[in-house]
Amino acid sequence: MAYYSYLISFALDPVQSGFICRNLPNYKQFKGLNAFNEYFDMLKPGTGAKSIPDVWPGYYRIALVQFQSRDLPQVLEEKVKPLRPKLTSGPIQEPLFKTSKMDISPECFRFGEECLKESMALYMTHSSKLTFGTALEEIRRRINPETWIMIPEEELHMVIHLYGRRLTWQQVEENHIPASVMAHPIEFYQTRLEIIPSRNAAKWSYEETGDLWRLGVTTLGGYCSGCWHRIRRKEWRGVCPACMQYERVKPVWSVSISSSPDSSKDSNSNRTTMEPPLDLSSLRLEKQLPSNNNFDSP
Ligand SMILES: [Zn+2]
Repeated sequence: MAYYSYLISFALDPVQSGFICRNLPNYKQFKGLNAFNEYFDMLKPGTGAKSIPDVWPGYYRIALVQFQSRDLPQVLEEKVKPLRPKLTSGPIQEPLFKTSKMDISPECFRFGEECLKESMALYMTHSSKLTFGTALEEIRRRINPETWIMIPEEELHMVIHLYGRRLTWQQVEENHIPASVMAHPIEFYQTRLEIIPSRNAAKWSYEETGDLWRLGVTTLGGYCSGCWHRIRRKEWRGVCPACMQYERVKPVWSVSISSSPDSSKDSNSNRTTMEPPLDLSSLRLEKQLPSNNNFDSP
């Protein structure tokens, strides 16, 4: 019997929610497509730092747990549907996440996809009022997984560089980019805790039951499933270079959390809302990605 892999993570959305750097003039906010590329460019202009973030904007996430289950996504969805965990211990008027350093990522969380050994990541600290340990235990009790690997709290990170076609880690260090990241930490005020199937789990689910857990396009037999452009396995990076449509795996469960950077707006802070797993607004943005972004240039 097959096992299916899943990830529990905090999704960060630079396109719609953006992030803030207080140590740049005018309390700089970065938001929209290529927000991370712009941040790195502002840190070290002219060093190629702009090209470091090569993960597409829909895949920025802080992984918490990788688990395996005998359940297909639709079975798991039914199991976790009633979960309403408490994720905050009171109103939060500080960032939910803040970068602490830039370093090599301890592991690759793309479930066996082709990616760089030395992927680069932004390590994160989280607000002490953001409490997810109990939520993870609730999820674990409910799904009864076959394996359950938790990322140690001090290793919480978000992968920003996965494919390595440009700067190597050595070049990044030579340009003192990690030191500049530490001097200019960035803050995140919105996130989404979600359970997402691996690409393979989504694929097998479709083959076995016809249930679709993917939005956008993927590779089928070496071709883009949307426009049938020829794509070699190692070339697939989550986006079709011909039709510019993205692949996105639907979460089986998700909950949104936001805090406010401005304490005078605290009536809006500490919002925790359940949201439907299907995020159509993001899908629309994916289709509008400009063709001159760093995904399709050589
Ligand atoms: Zn295509």
